[in-house]
Amino acid sequence: MKVTEHLAAAKGKTLISIEVLPPQKGKTIDDLLKVIEPLMEFKPPFIDVTYHREEIIYKKRADGLIEEIPLRKRPGTVGICAAIKGRFNVDTVPHLVCGGFTPEETEDALFTLYYLGINNLLLLQGDSDKNPKTAVKTNAHKYASDLVAQVAEMNKGKFLHEETENEMKTNFCIGVAAYPEKHFEAPNLNTDLKWLKHKIDAGADYIVTQMFFDNKKYFDFVEKCKAAGINIPIIPGIKPIAQKKQLYSLPKIFHIDIPETLADVVEKCKDDKEVKRAGIEWAIQQSKELKAAGVPCLHYYTMSRSEATIEIAKAVF
Ligand code: FAD
Repeated sequence: MKVTEHLAAAKGKTLISIEVLPPQKGKTIDDLLKVIEPLMEFKPPFIDVTYHREEIIYKKRADGLIEEIPLRKRPGTVGICAAIKGRFNVDTVPHLVCGGFTPEETEDALFTLYYLGINNLLLLQGDSDKNPKTAVKTNAHKYASDLVAQVAEMNKGKFLHEETENEMKTNFCIGVAAYPEKHFEAPNLNTDLKWLKHKIDAGADYIVTQMFFDNKKYFDFVEKCKAAGINIPIIPGIKPIAQKKQLYSLPKIFHIDIPETLADVVEKCKDDKEVKRAGIEWAIQQSKELKAAGVPCLHYYTMSRSEATIEIAKAVF
């Protein structure tokens, strides 16, 4: 089923969904399946699997020269989606990114997903490549909206470099990302909203937000989206804080604020065990308020660890 069909079938009841990461190279998929297994008790109708672009590593060759090697540290998003779907009979949502792929390679991946019966996608620009030499692959899509447009065409039976419509049409449900506290590159929230609307007009069916720790940011954002003519479901993303150092790393990496009250509580914790407790409590209160406000789904960034999400889900669902 499509994500939007799950949301419609819930008839206003708030659903739960989770995001997991593919295992790092060398770790088994069994470890990931063990993370997901106890979360199935809460019946998530869909599970997202992130995509990780290749990174450049430097290796000394036998002749002493340094070689640049493009390496994907967490490969296998599509295969993992198929494995999770087969094992738990749950819909999966592979993330696909622009960077590092030509549209032709993306089309191949979309055919693979179509044949696997996976018809949900979260389409993203993708985290930036720190290496300027490889940052832009010739002809890669620049913005998520370009990727959305490609999939929307495929849903109409129009494939790349073909003039006529094909009998075979894909039927992908398209999710996109949004940022209640603004994407870090956008000059202001209104401009960011303009481009979000552009993604929706290109064919996106629903939105998943970046994590936020202050529900007011989400509620204000939803109002601004409505005013901008964005009327598709906006699923809030929740991440329980787990380490003291995240007070500084999360704002730096994700360009989000941590409310003063939460920051004060975390600062006073004597170790990360206490921080984890505080993070879970905060996420429970956040989730309860969002659920009471009737959000379509609560989407948890698990970082492929289940304990915190289990505790939150037990308290909220
Ligand atoms: P876009 O929608 O392309 O927007 C990027 C920026 O460009 C914004 O500032 C926007 O305002 C601006 N913009 C958009 N269109 C235009 C235009 N036509 N002209 C000018 N400006 C424009 N990254 C990964 O690598 N893998 C993942 O699995 C992954 N999963 C994620 C899941 C969620 C829910 C979220 C919120 C983020 C995820 N990310 C992931 C991170 C994401 O790739 C980065 O945040 C990225 O910097 C932006 O992605 P986007 O799809 O929102 O970009």
